Amino acid sequence: MSVKSVPVLPSPKTSVVQQPNLSIPPLLGASLEELTGWVQQQGQPAYRGKQLHEWIYQKGVRSLSDISVFSKQWRAEVAEIPIGRSNIQYRSVAPDGTVKYLLQLSDDQIIECVGIPAEKRLTVCVSTQVGCPMACDFCATGKQGYKRNLGRHEIVDQVLTVQEDFQQRVSHVVFMGMGEPLLNTDHVIGSVKSLNQDVGIGQRNLTVSTVGIRDRIRQLAQHQLQVTLAVSLHAPNQALREQLIPSARSYPIEDLLAECREYVKITGRRVSFEYVLLAGVNDLPEHALELARHLRGFQSHVNLIPYNPITEADYKRPNENRIQAFVKVLKQQQIAVSVRYSRGLEADAACGQLRTNENKKES
Ligand code: SAH
Repeated sequence: MSVKSVPVLPSPKTSVVQQPNLSIPPLLGASLEELTGWVQQQGQPAYRGKQLHEWIYQKGVRSLSDISVFSKQWRAEVAEIPIGRSNIQYRSVAPDGTVKYLLQLSDDQIIECVGIPAEKRLTVCVSTQVGCPMACDFCATGKQGYKRNLGRHEIVDQVLTVQEDFQQRVSHVVFMGMGEPLLNTDHVIGSVKSLNQDVGIGQRNLTVSTVGIRDRIRQLAQHQLQVTLAVSLHAPNQALREQLIPSARSYPIEDLLAECREYVKITGRRVSFEYVLLAGVNDLPEHALELARHLRGFQSHVNLIPYNPITEADYKRPNENRIQAFVKVLKQQQIAVSVRYSRGLEADAACGQLRTNENKKES
């Protein structure tokens, strides 16, 4: 089965754009208490808050004027208050059932999210920014530049959109789409709480992935969330990490690992380390050994991600023997490890392949 081709979108502006001027904040992402407070401010009885919550999160209503249990008069009064839903601009299905969506936001910015079905599971990979400023050398999103942070509602919306499209409850969310979550901490934490309390997804089924921003992992730990923290390490030493991740220059690997240790101590949750395997660059047995030395005795897990090709970079995915040799060294050193073969490769929906400027020629 071939993948539907993705339309050519306008070439991206690399300049940063302002977040939309939301004189009236969207309701999506708000808790039951916040919605109840809001309806009361509007002169409505408190029970309307519960109805509103149900219509937003269970029924997926897109406009207050469609809430039939509200009076006609009040619906007309609040018709302009935004709920904060996006529109699906394009969807592309890979042979393995993974679906990539391009979503259009209220200011016409485009983001991506991915629905990944598996037996008894539906995982959504959400974006946290439009583009990304981190510019990791092997990542398509980084090549596209950064525009703005997403609001809490724009993160929650991605999950509701996939849930509606699959007609199936979302069981897991990974914050591994476009953007660096810890550069948008407030809205990421707000969306974690809403996904948990309003959409009903267990916190342990939520994973926040970061390349590491100084002090932000510690800050996140203070919130005592039960989410899984995934840290994109990608190299076992500072020199190699700097080569792949420009932001590593101002944040030495030792400092990053020290902060991760603090996270484990404060939250009691293990950290998972992501390591993209790039042939001949960071995939040699000595790299695995060096990585193991850092992680010995550390409550952690290594997720190896064989590189997913992007047109903007020259890296190669190592062959299976090399991948298994790397795994073997880590296992010999008693490091918990798994290999994550990304889903959705054929729809450009796999890790690192998310970009909204589809200037790539479709074959
Ligand atoms: N900014 C966050 C989330 C980004 S994407 C972070 O850096 O963690 C999720 C994972 O995909 C990250 O580990 C990222 O480094 C990885 N990734 C990026 N490009 C990739 C590629 N071409 N192939 C495989 N994994 C990639």
